[in-house]
Amino acid sequence: MKVDLHTHSTYSDGTLEPEDLISGAAALGITHLALSDHDSTAGLEGARKKAGELNLQVIPAIEINTLENHSSVHILGYFIDDKDAGLQKTLDEHREIRLKRAGMIIDKLRHMGIRIDLSDFNDRKQRAAIGRPHIADRLKEIGVVFSRQEAFDKYLSKGKSAYVFYQGPTPQKAIETILSCKGVPVLAHPGYFVSRETIEGLVQMGLAGIEVYYPSHNPDQIRNFLETAKRLDLVATGGSDYHGPGSGHEALGEIDVPERTLEDLLERKRKLFG
Ligand code: AMP
Ligand code: ZN
Ligand code: FE
Ligand code: FE
Repeated sequence: MKVDLHTHSTYSDGTLEPEDLISGAAALGITHLALSDHDSTAGLEGARKKAGELNLQVIPAIEINTLENHSSVHILGYFIDDKDAGLQKTLDEHREIRLKRAGMIIDKLRHMGIRIDLSDFNDRKQRAAIGRPHIADRLKEIGVVFSRQEAFDKYLSKGKSAYVFYQGPTPQKAIETILSCKGVPVLAHPGYFVSRETIEGLVQMGLAGIEVYYPSHNPDQIRNFLETAKRLDLVATGGSDYHGPGSGHEALGEIDVPERTLEDLLERKRKLFG
């Protein structure tokens, strides 16, 4: 059994189709994979189909970027009911906000003489969530940068000239959304500047897990987050946050997630929802 609980496909800012993501994961010996696209569950259909052929289990998941005190807090939801109408309505709203924000980023770039159009993303799948990485890829295509990373470093990161913050939901709203479709809410990559106070506040809102095993977490952070998980009764999860070839986030198969994590998540789900 080999587990990865954090991956993205072309239905958000991953570079691989869900089917290819599943094939790649299976080739690396992964047996249980969560597809956790940003604000879209549309990749699950293809992922499940392919996974059925390859004897891999897909865990339905979501990643919701939220805004808390001007900083970005990402909440993952596991074993969600992706058919839930309320969930889909909320995700539709998030994708609308993302589209508007992409338009604002494009306006800023245009003022700097860099011309890309929102229509460049028309071939974007209807139910896919657009994010800064898509704009980064387009900047690469037109020769303004050589990589996604360079686009972020020069234009798209917080503080850079074409940065527009994402007016996402509050963490409270994201946690409620996940709980309302019987998902287990988990704090993603807490190593990206999430304070102890913030984590304790999230637990009050219903947070049930924390992503401990993550490519950029060093051994001290892993120890620290494991201790946090124990202290606050959170499930310790982990994943690669794989975004596909050329994305700069390419650690598929490189994260060791303890086998009991899946059972812990399912047990928490039973405890919460019966
Ligand atoms: P967005 O959802 O549009 O705010 O974009 C967030 C996504 O962009 C993250 O999930 C990462 O995939 C990627 N990302 C964010 N910051 C950076 C960065 N500094 N360098 C490269 N990729 C980044
Ligand atoms: Zn992403
Ligand atoms: Fe994230
Ligand atoms: Fe992610």
